[in-house]
Amino acid sequence: MTLGIGFLFLVIVVFGVFGIISIHRLKNDADKILKNNYETLVYNNNMLKALERLPADSLAFTLFENNLALQEKNVTEPGEKESTVAVRQYFERIRINRNDTVALAGIRQSIQLINDLNQEAILHKNQNAREGAESAATWMTIIFTVLALIAFTLVVNFPGVISNPIRQLSAGISAIANKNYSKRIHLSQQDEFGELANAFNSMAEKLDEYEHSNIARIRFEKRRIEAVINNMRDAIIGFDEKKLVLFMNSVAETLIGLREKDIVGKYAPDLALHNDLMRTLLQDEPRTELEIFADGKKSYFVNERIEVRNEEERIGEVIVLRNITPFHELDEAKTNFIATVSHELKTPISSIKMSARLLDDARIGMMNKEQQELLHSIQDDADRLLKITSELLNMSQVETGNIQLKIQAASPESIIRQAVQAVQFQAQQKQVSIKTDLVASLPEVMADTEKTSWVLINFLTNAIRYAPEASVIEVSVSRKKDKVSFVVRDHGIGIDEKYLPRIFDRYYKVPGNYEKSGTGLGLAISREFIEAQGGNVWVESAIGEGSKFGFDFPAIV
Ligand code: ADP
Repeated sequence: MTLGIGFLFLVIVVFGVFGIISIHRLKNDADKILKNNYETLVYNNNMLKALERLPADSLAFTLFENNLALQEKNVTEPGEKESTVAVRQYFERIRINRNDTVALAGIRQSIQLINDLNQEAILHKNQNAREGAESAATWMTIIFTVLALIAFTLVVNFPGVISNPIRQLSAGISAIANKNYSKRIHLSQQDEFGELANAFNSMAEKLDEYEHSNIARIRFEKRRIEAVINNMRDAIIGFDEKKLVLFMNSVAETLIGLREKDIVGKYAPDLALHNDLMRTLLQDEPRTELEIFADGKKSYFVNERIEVRNEEERIGEVIVLRNITPFHELDEAKTNFIATVSHELKTPISSIKMSARLLDDARIGMMNKEQQELLHSIQDDADRLLKITSELLNMSQVETGNIQLKIQAASPESIIRQAVQAVQFQAQQKQVSIKTDLVASLPEVMADTEKTSWVLINFLTNAIRYAPEASVIEVSVSRKKDKVSFVVRDHGIGIDEKYLPRIFDRYYKVPGNYEKSGTGLGLAISREFIEAQGGNVWVESAIGEGSKFGFDFPAIV
């Protein structure tokens, strides 16, 4: 740029100086012609006019004298001086003798000579000036042509000198913006553009290095995570925020029956249209237990959903099917063991009870007081053992889904009476009175009488156990819209609100209750029995205010 602009400046200066000098030279030539020659012609002309009026007019002498003096000062051409001196000499003769005709003729001749000399000089100088002007014009044309050619070359090439590197630089920047870090700019020039290109190249190199090291690290991390996911025994499927499948491990492939490479990037609800398990996974509430038959065997899984978030934004979801088959197998083994043991224990316990009752018979022999107390203790323990084994047996039936129901229309009064009768002895021992409150004309319910009484007995036994001595337990049946509600209310220790949600769980016992002997199965079995019959169980309780256990059955209208 400096070169280009400098050159243009030089062009203007050279052209201007040359033009000014040429014009000056021409002006000087014109001035010289005017001063040296033209003025001489004017003086000579004046002298000739004065000569015409001589000798009569004495003023003509003065006019001649003045013009001659001016001519003497303006002698410029070779030979002019001699003629001017001759004019002076002839004039001095005339001054002495006004009628000297020779001198008059001499003056005229000399003036004519001077005129001729000056006219020739004018012609000659004019010729010189024209030649000078022509040569200046030629030179100016040559210089103009050369400079115009150079300027034209500059005008054509100059934008390219600037725009080419800029174009290359902008292409390089676009490539970097598109993550093409291998892009380099090659400029041969050593100017600012060259420096800019070098800076760009080193930046691109650094970005390239950074990108490669980052990609290598990310690839390594990805492979490690893939290895971990693929070696898990749980099935894992990942989706992005638009529910497009991102990945799936080999366990998930086996269970779902699809290959990861075939479904990656596909919309999960579309896949669910043709795949039952995928549909179940997308629809199911999390933490539901699924029984899946795959790879020739039945397995159990728990469905868990993990939301993947990037700070506040939800960026995807991972569904984990946790394999709980080993726990299931252990649970099954436990249930089978409990069922076998409790079943096997029932017979010897019953025979212990039978033997104890026989021993208590006076016909077999009289016992002293201590022996009788020992015998009653054996009978109590045998009762408790029998209750525990029957609860365990019931539970194993519930767990294996083998509840045998004998559903029939039954009157709520008969169920209640049966239950109250069964616990009457226990109540009397604690001086607890059981008050039954039966509303007249209750509708019948569809129920298994035996299992429903079992539930009521369980509620009543608990109520007696946790009620203070000589208190009252109320048993009631009432109708609420299309439901018949059975309620057992005690005024015992009550249950802390925070334990109520778990009270119907298997083996659950409220922490801190002084009564340690139970199995924690009674309420769990009760719920299973009632729900199997289409009813539902509930509890209301507060510490120190007693408890209300109940269940509802649909009424037969
Ligand atoms: P268990 O055979 O141990 O009594 P249940 O399933 O019948 O088992 O009862 C579970 C727990 O609920 C008991 O351990 C007891 O802590 C509490 N519970 C049940 N009924 C009552 C009640 N009427 N009053 C206070 N606590 C009760």
